[in-house]
Formats: sequence, structure tokens, C-alpha cells
Amino acid sequence: MAHVARTPKLSLVTDVPDKVMVIFAHPDDAEIGSGGVVAKWVAAGCEVTYVLCTNGGAGTADRSLTPEQLVRRRADEQRAAADFMGVKHVVMLGYPDGGLEDTREFLGDVVRVIRTYRPHTVFVHDPYRIKGFQHRDHRKAGLVTTDAVYPFARDHLHFAEQIARDGLEPHRARELWYWGMDEPNVIVDVTDSIERQIAALIRHETQMPGFNVPAGETIGQRLKRHAAELAKGYGFRYGAVFRRLIARR
Ligand SMILES: [Zn+2]
Repeated sequence: MAHVARTPKLSLVTDVPDKVMVIFAHPDDAEIGSGGVVAKWVAAGCEVTYVLCTNGGAGTADRSLTPEQLVRRRADEQRAAADFMGVKHVVMLGYPDGGLEDTREFLGDVVRVIRTYRPHTVFVHDPYRIKGFQHRDHRKAGLVTTDAVYPFARDHLHFAEQIARDGLEPHRARELWYWGMDEPNVIVDVTDSIERQIAALIRHETQMPGFNVPAGETIGQRLKRHAAELAKGYGFRYGAVFRRLIARR
């Protein structure tokens, strides 16, 4: 929801892929980052897989909650949000909150889920944002996912044991979409799905105090205000923007 450049004009994406994967650091990041598009595409028949990288165990200012209680509540909230969105598969990698690193283990985990669920399009945090602060876990998830999509999941000699021993096949995802980017290049009309995005987001009850909504505004109103700004000049009411990368043949 950062302020984004308005020129050049973004291309409007209207096609819907058959399978999508959303890879994200913390519970609630997916709903914020890609919720409007995912809700729209699920309604159009797209199969969606969520991959939650950390357990969200640091995400509270409430000192009365133990980390274990928080982890359990956030996993429940994420499942409820995913169910509500119509997400078909939810994979929780379980890394510690604040503990994502660019390791072989994490890369191998992301390669494995891509080879297992075989998405056409992968959504993730933009790891290259420089115009504002961004959580370290977001950068690490973005970077490792970028590497996993190309070339590690695609090439059979990377993590070859997943193929020889575990029976997976290499997979080439066609597109990688970043949210939270400095310079978007595509926009999607989410006018008909933004209510569903908001309804999913508020399933993350433990996170509501942290959303820092200005006085007199709800999280839904704030999301709509930003989405309306993004849609200005495009002929629809609410928009979501991304940096879209398309794989070479
Ligand atoms: Zn996050």
C-alpha cells in the first residue's frame, strides 16, 4: 500500500491462470498482498495454494500471550482466512518469525512446494523494494521464492533427490507477481472481490491492533481508499497493482 508511481500506465490483466501459489512470510500477508486478486480468480475457477513461511510467533504487542498461544491462534486464523477465500491447499513451513534466512533448506522447501502444486503464477513479496522499510522476512521470502521459480524448480539437476527419490517432476512457473513493489507494471480490477479480501483479512483477529488504522477509519475503509486511488483513470472502482515477471520460453 505504498505510494506508487502513476506513469507509465499499467497494463490491465484480465486473464485468469489455472493454478496460483501465494508464498508469504507471516499470517495475514497473503490477504493484504494479493487477497483481492486471489478472491477474484478463485471465483473464476482458479486453484490456489497458500505457502506460509513462518509461524508468526512474534506478531503481537500483547504481552499476556505466550508465543505458543500466539502461534496456535495465528495458524487457526490463517486457516479460517484461507477457507473463507476458497484456497484449496495451505502449506505451513513453520520457520520462526523473524528467522527466515536465504538457506539451502528454505530454498529446497520452496522448490518442493512449487514442484508439488505446479502453479502457473506465483505471488510473493517484492524483495527489491527500496523506497520504504520492509520486514526482513518479506525480503528473504521474496528472494528465495524468486530463485526457486527460476531456475531451481525448473531444472531437474537442482534438488535432484526430490525427483529421483521423492517422485516429483521439475516445474516451470510461467509468471512471478510481486506485491509491495516500488514500480508496478500491471493492474487488476478487484471491484467485485475487495469485500471478500477484507472479510478474509479480518479473520486475523490478533493482528487488528497492529494495522494502525487512522482514527475514524476501519481496515476495510483504508484498503478501499488505497484501492480506489490505484484505480483512478482506469474505468473501474478498485484496483490492485503488482510487478509481473514473465518467464522466457
Ligand atoms: Zn509480514
